Amino acid sequence: AAKRAGGGCCVVYEASMAGDAAEQVLLQQALRHAVARGELLLYYQPKVDARSGQVHGLEALLRWRHPERGLVSPAVFVPLAERFGLIGEIGNWVIDEACAQLARWHEQGLRCRVAINLSPYQLRNAALPERIAAALEQHRLQPSQLVCEITETAMMENLDAERSVLDQIAALGVRLSIDDFGTGYSSLAHLRNIPARQLKIDRSFVIDLTANADAQAVLEAVVGLAHALRMEVVAEGVETADQHAALVRLGCDILQGYLIARPMPAEAVPQWLEALKAGAGGS
Ligand code: C2E
Ligand code: MG
Ligand code: MG
Ligand code: MG
Repeated sequence: AAKRAGGGCCVVYEASMAGDAAEQVLLQQALRHAVARGELLLYYQPKVDARSGQVHGLEALLRWRHPERGLVSPAVFVPLAERFGLIGEIGNWVIDEACAQLARWHEQGLRCRVAINLSPYQLRNAALPERIAAALEQHRLQPSQLVCEITETAMMENLDAERSVLDQIAALGVRLSIDDFGTGYSSLAHLRNIPARQLKIDRSFVIDLTANADAQAVLEAVVGLAHALRMEVVAEGVETADQHAALVRLGCDILQGYLIARPMPAEAVPQWLEALKAGAGGS
């Protein structure tokens, strides 16, 4: 069944609804035209400093407004886009739109940082660093205003060519963040070879946190290791006050999740930031 999404205004088309093959073919055909028809949009979910509650940045999360099906979740269409060779075009749109939005906020007097998610397929494109550099320049942004989130698996298992793409992006001054950390099977020793400044602990660890002492021990060890490597630690999927308290106690630097804010349309961000400043959204 359709579910209520963040903002309470939209129906989200979930992965469970895209089950059969015929449905997937229809979606994939429609997706081919989504960029050209202006059907893609970005939602933004805040990340806040664990101790001060101040905003650290915003993560851009892709949505597809399908003419008949409403908002489609990226969990449905990103895998389709990857499978059918459409992720390059879509990923480029995300880079341009996130940079354009940062520039619009800057014009309104809002200085912030935005993280985009990169697919492993995008890392295979040697032109990606140039594309990011061009978008930053076109919108007159500091490279440090942009963060690229890349999943642990994509970051650790890549080949030399992809590694070079990562290094070039980092060399621009763009920060790299390891997304969904803990879901892959990478060796922890490998972490020190990755040019990432930030590590995002997967939501599954946060869910277990308050019920399971072992989960706390794992999290504590990961935080210690990340800090020893001078990386900041983000916890994603924070939904309860108990989780929030535990994560602060365990030394997480940055928190993100429905407890703090759901992903929201760009237009809602300035007001959310205002409310946070005024103390209404802080903790
Ligand atoms: P992700 O990058 O790990 O993003 C976190 C996902 O968890 C988002 O789902 C977010 O809405 C959701 N989330 C945040 N806080 C909570 C919480 O407290 N509880 C729960 N249950 N969920 C929470 P979303 O927006 O559906 O995105 C799903 C995935 O799709 C993302 O996972 C990312 O891997 C991918 N994705 C999203 N946007 C893009 C994009 O622009 N490019 C690419 N390549 N992938 C994207
Ligand atoms: Mg992410
Ligand atoms: Mg994540
Ligand atoms: Mg994820």
